[in-house]
Amino acid sequence: MRKLAAGNWKMNGNAAALAELTALTEAHPAPACDMLICPPATLIAQAAWATKGTRLAIGGQDCHPKASGAHTGDISAAMLKDACASYVILGHSERRADHGETDELVLAKALAAVEAGLVPVVCLGETEAQRDAGQTLAVIGEQLAGSVPAGSTAATLVIAYEPVWAIGTGRTPTLDQIAEVHSFLRVSLMKQIGGEAAGVRLLYGGSVKPSNAAEIFAVGHVDGALVGGASLKAADFGAIVAAL
Ligand code: PGA
Repeated sequence: MRKLAAGNWKMNGNAAALAELTALTEAHPAPACDMLICPPATLIAQAAWATKGTRLAIGGQDCHPKASGAHTGDISAAMLKDACASYVILGHSERRADHGETDELVLAKALAAVEAGLVPVVCLGETEAQRDAGQTLAVIGEQLAGSVPAGSTAATLVIAYEPVWAIGTGRTPTLDQIAEVHSFLRVSLMKQIGGEAAGVRLLYGGSVKPSNAAEIFAVGHVDGALVGGASLKAADFGAIVAAL
């Protein structure tokens, strides 16, 4: 399968930051993996325009489960598609925490994304308290069962395992801990969607940077990364792309 290096700019970036995308595509015109950057919604159309004809895909960071309607401030999957996005991050732990998103809502959004022709990048992961209590696999199993659409295929689903305590903290799980979760995800997904699970990209996210990317990517069933802070600079993200 083609691996995926995905960047999540979160609530960062402005029109001037689009120069980073140009620098990235110029430095990596034919990367060995797929490249994706998810800028804030205000920049999606400009980012898609600025990277047209390159190997860099553009995605959203969230979408509403409905296609249109009276939902002030929200953006639908169809609107992201119309702005030339091809992926959308869903269920990021910051949205689960800041906006109370549940597995049920993430599932509804994922269905809307697929319906609109976007690939959902469904995020899941345990908190530090849950890991300390030995609940990691149970929590992840529940999130997976609750938020992945039945009938998902390798072409319509990406999963990102992001331990909440590793996001933006500079801390990462041990390679054994990542391996344990990723093989658990593959096996659980097999039970949920069958053979297609073999081709679903399982990303690791949480404090991925140029200095630790290669060792993380060498772990079994790690098919790429979802990168926050280190995706803001073309040089850092490019180094991660080169490690895949
Ligand atoms: P980080 O964020 O790379 O800054 O830890 C990862 C994420 O939230 O996707």
